[in-house]
Amino acid sequence: MTMLFETGLSRRFFLRGTGGGLLLGSALGAAGPSFAQSTGASGGGGPALPPDGPTGRPMPEMEKAMPEAPGKRLGYAIVGLGQFALNQIIPSFAESKSSKLVALVSGNRDKALQVADRYGVEQANIYDYQNFDRIADNDEIDIVYIILPNALHAEYTVRAFKAGKHVLCEKPMAVTADECETMIRAGREADRKLMIAYRAQYEPYNMEAIRMAREGELGRIRLVTSDHGRILDPKVPADQWRMVKALAGGGSLYDIGIYSLQAARTITGEEPVEVSAHISSDRSDPRFREIEELVAFQLRFPSGALANLTSSYSTAPVKRIQVFGSKASLVLDPATEYERHQMMVKTEKEERRVQIPEGNQFAAEMDHMAKAVLEEREPKTPGEEGLRDIRIMQAIYQAAEQGRPVSLETTGSTAR
Ligand code: NAD
Repeated sequence: MTMLFETGLSRRFFLRGTGGGLLLGSALGAAGPSFAQSTGASGGGGPALPPDGPTGRPMPEMEKAMPEAPGKRLGYAIVGLGQFALNQIIPSFAESKSSKLVALVSGNRDKALQVADRYGVEQANIYDYQNFDRIADNDEIDIVYIILPNALHAEYTVRAFKAGKHVLCEKPMAVTADECETMIRAGREADRKLMIAYRAQYEPYNMEAIRMAREGELGRIRLVTSDHGRILDPKVPADQWRMVKALAGGGSLYDIGIYSLQAARTITGEEPVEVSAHISSDRSDPRFREIEELVAFQLRFPSGALANLTSSYSTAPVKRIQVFGSKASLVLDPATEYERHQMMVKTEKEERRVQIPEGNQFAAEMDHMAKAVLEEREPKTPGEEGLRDIRIMQAIYQAAEQGRPVSLETTGSTAR
């Protein structure tokens, strides 16, 4: 099943290719409103010509849904103006439908002023890490999005809940399972929502792969493999805290192995019952004095399906997911890029490319959170989802250290 692009596009190309406006009237014919009807012009016979002067036309056919009016969108405060916040998240508000940027939290006022100026944030809505708690007095802020080094996620989540705000928090949720539990409890006590920013679960290709696997289009899922690797670069500021265990919590596993883990859990729809793992770190390399370099881990699921997963901080970039079912296999490569995903499905008889329109996954996840708040429902990726991954990753470290498999408590299928 190869999906085609939206029909709106092909119609536009058809009109361009055939001379545009004049043909539009006759192409619509009896089926659509004629230009004469829509402008109030009259005349018998053929299609009406546009008037010579300026005129107001009816609303055109919309190719993209319009956003909510600004007053109906929920206001976000972004905490931490680093690489990811400035390159991916803040620009994506322009493509969001239910979210808007209203406040910034940064330790660097000059940078915050520059960003505020460019994105129309009022200076009064700039906070730093000391006066952060004053967001409690700002009704424009509905949701706080935490994009800080991992070890700071728990503190700022709890402080945001104390200020009466909802929280969207970057992955990994926190460093320890205890921190995750504290965050979940703080949200419940404040009666506010907590969502973990697992962007892949809001990205169209990943969602389609999950759907195909869960709806049996690949047959019975027996094996998932996934590899996430990149080269950690000490010259890049965003990679400097990633080398410090006290700030990052872990190495390649916590940062990008979490995508391999998420792939196996979301595609099978099951929780692993057992994990085994190997870790290898070149301790003579200053990057890996505190955090791990390479992780290879295996998960066993209640259905008998297996996952063979890796993460690396010292090899050329890879972001790949492969699913092997009894009827077909699926390759998503790149799988967890910001854009330009590629998906192939292979059976004994054929190999075909699955093409679907790309979507802005960052805008989609922010809008999902805004809708969850507005409609008072749990987000698809709540704090409990983040906690599950932290528990499994802790078991992965334990399995590697002990040199034998570790069994995990399981609650059965993922309830999504
Ligand atoms: P970054 O270093 O570029 O940004 C971190 C921000 O936190 C900076 O603005 C920095 O000034 C601020 N900060 C505050 N206290 C700090 C401290 N003690 N040490 C270092 N920085 C401090 O990092 P990033 O790559 O933007 O990552 C931030 C978070 O976003 C991490 O949790 C990371 O896992 C997550 N992230 C997620 C994705 C994704 O695709 N979902 C991608 C990149 C990063």
